[in-house]
Amino acid sequence: MEQDRKRRQTKAVFLGGLQIGGGAPIVVQSMTNTDTRDVRSTVAQIRELKEAGCEAVRCAVPDQEAALALAEIKKRTDLPLIADIHFDPRLACQAIRSGVDGIRINPGNMGTDGIRAIVKEARQRQVVIRIGINSGSVEADILKRQGGPTAAALVESAINNLQLLEDLGQQQIKISLKSSDVPTMIAAYRQMAAKTDYPLHLGVTEAGTLVNAAIKSAIGIGSLLYEGIGDTIRVSVTGNPVDEMGIAWGILRALNIRKIGPDIISCPTCGRCEIDLPRLVAALEERLSGRNEYLKIALMGCVVNGPGEAAHADIGIAGGRGVGMLFKQGKVIRKIREEDFIETLLYEIEDMTNS
Ligand code: SF4
Repeated sequence: MEQDRKRRQTKAVFLGGLQIGGGAPIVVQSMTNTDTRDVRSTVAQIRELKEAGCEAVRCAVPDQEAALALAEIKKRTDLPLIADIHFDPRLACQAIRSGVDGIRINPGNMGTDGIRAIVKEARQRQVVIRIGINSGSVEADILKRQGGPTAAALVESAINNLQLLEDLGQQQIKISLKSSDVPTMIAAYRQMAAKTDYPLHLGVTEAGTLVNAAIKSAIGIGSLLYEGIGDTIRVSVTGNPVDEMGIAWGILRALNIRKIGPDIISCPTCGRCEIDLPRLVAALEERLSGRNEYLKIALMGCVVNGPGEAAHADIGIAGGRGVGMLFKQGKVIRKIREEDFIETLLYEIEDMTNS
């Protein structure tokens, strides 16, 4: 459930049956890093992404073979499929004919005739076009006028491209303005949100490996979502895209926007802790990975702050010397041994989520 908050009003677009914008829940997206021509590996990764919480997936289309492969990929997944294309409008047209639900292009690098051909195909098949502005691909004249890839430059490029698509009659449009610089990205989306009511796809580009990506995305995407800006998000991680899901859903959970999956609260430990809390938390995270039910679970090192924190959780344990107090919905249930913590929690969680 999405918590009440003042969200920017946007138009609704439809990636297949999935609504984006128009008040729909924020959609979590990712992108495969397999060779799209390798249908088997790509479908396998899409399946993994879906299991981890991905709701729409994008595949790179570097050539005609990849554009054709999308037809087979589309048959083997029910996730909305988006083709990511640069420079060559023929690839975009082929991807649309292959049955994708959306395409991501930077219209500025396709040429007017190319865009006209893409829009014709997209309109016939109700395909969403994302105008994907990136700080690395802003047009040279705009960069010169704006003094580099500033927020204003990203917005100017997006507005020009939007005008182009609107003039050709395309209505299913979403927009992204990604920068690797977090303050620039935030400013660009804020400015764009004030100028248009098309849905916005949020992301920090080239965010780095896991920790950096989590920090930059939590600040960039999280700040905007907190202000009510953004309709769909993608966290970029250098590495396995499945890792993006934990961060993306963690951001949505932390802001009480979409509560899906276990929210594990644990203390940093200190000299009072007499249980092996890091090991226990890691074990619990592993055993609960892939679960969709929202539950606040507290694992606290001692009884100083532990009971207080655990009492605010759906279920929790506050540790002692080799033992712990099990709390459920604010009430002490019983004392348990450290070696039984994980199995006890899992048993109780199963009981709570099935009742
Ligand atoms: Fe230390 Fe206890 Fe607080 Fe954990 S809950 S940080 S062990 S005082």
